[in-house]
Amino acid sequence: MLNFTVGPVMCSDEVREIGGEQVPYFRTPEFSKLMLENEQLMLKYAKAAEGSRVAFMTNSSTGSMEAVVMNCFSSDDKVLVINGGSFGQRFVDLCVIHGIPHDVLKLNHGQKLTKGNLYEYDGKGYTGLLVNIDETSTGVLYDAEMLGEFCKKNDIFFVCDCVSAFLADPFDMAHCGADVMITGSQKVLACPPGVSMIVLAPRAVERVVNANVKSMYFNLADVLKNMERGQTPFTPAVGILRQINTRLKEIEAAGGADTEIARVASQAKDFRDKIKELPFEFVSESPANGVTPVHPLNADAYEIFTELKDHYGIWICPNGGDMKRTVFRVGHIGYLTHDDNTILINALKDMQSKGKL
Ligand SMILES: *Cc1c(COP(=O)(O)O)cnc(C)c1O
Repeated sequence: MLNFTVGPVMCSDEVREIGGEQVPYFRTPEFSKLMLENEQLMLKYAKAAEGSRVAFMTNSSTGSMEAVVMNCFSSDDKVLVINGGSFGQRFVDLCVIHGIPHDVLKLNHGQKLTKGNLYEYDGKGYTGLLVNIDETSTGVLYDAEMLGEFCKKNDIFFVCDCVSAFLADPFDMAHCGADVMITGSQKVLACPPGVSMIVLAPRAVERVVNANVKSMYFNLADVLKNMERGQTPFTPAVGILRQINTRLKEIEAAGGADTEIARVASQAKDFRDKIKELPFEFVSESPANGVTPVHPLNADAYEIFTELKDHYGIWICPNGGDMKRTVFRVGHIGYLTHDDNTILINALKDMQSKGKL
């Protein structure tokens, strides 16, 4: 199997081996040490400010998006949501479910967020901003520095969903002033799904510690309290947290976060260069490194996905909703190489020679 989806993605052999081992008991000093090591490396790679903390959540990243909305905002807030696709819409839905007053800055699929769009909301009394730094459904990368400047100017609590951007696109949490950064195990971290990390800057730590959240599992103050000793309130996905530890150290050994970001960027560039010969169009005005959304000019996007899966053993990522038949996505994250890109391009060329593109 060759997997070009945007999660779960291909894992390294070392990470896969851990998946075959017995899962150890976790209320031990050894597991606490591993968790604290995970926290230190996450803070380092996120370029988080001194005093930041990490909550390791056993849920997919949507659970962390929900936890952040519940713990960081209340009905007294006025939140601006950047909505350029299905993940932006998810933040909008979460605000509705939890009764958080909000406005939506709506962008068309693939549209870049400009300073002009954003500053229409300047000085309007917003207290929070929710954004998916890479809107993975359309592959658009938003400018975290520009958003951070806007938030600083307006004293807005700044939440970044970096689920597919973390370790794929440059992101400096302290520099852009993000209060919260969310990511998950199955994207660039290239581990199985099941764990999501919430990195909280000092201002966010203070906010969640004082929050009055009506939830047991999504009580981030409780999570942070336990994490002081490298533990979690409830049984975490112990095996995946061990895989994350191995993966974080692999990244360190290879040169750190910036090296991994450069590797993903080069994987994306290689694919974008190679696919130019084929009858496709790119969708995004401001492409993120993690994924390339592709619009086939003469064929049905979903049929290309099915054909590659059933006849070539290659998985690309179909799109949902109204983009299902017009756009498919090719991921550049996980354990993939330039040669893997060539295999995919050759499969597409083979389909073309058979009149299927
Ligand atoms: C993958 C992803 C998520 C989370 O999806 P889950 O299915 O909950 O893991 C959230 N936001 C973005 C931008 C993503 O790419």
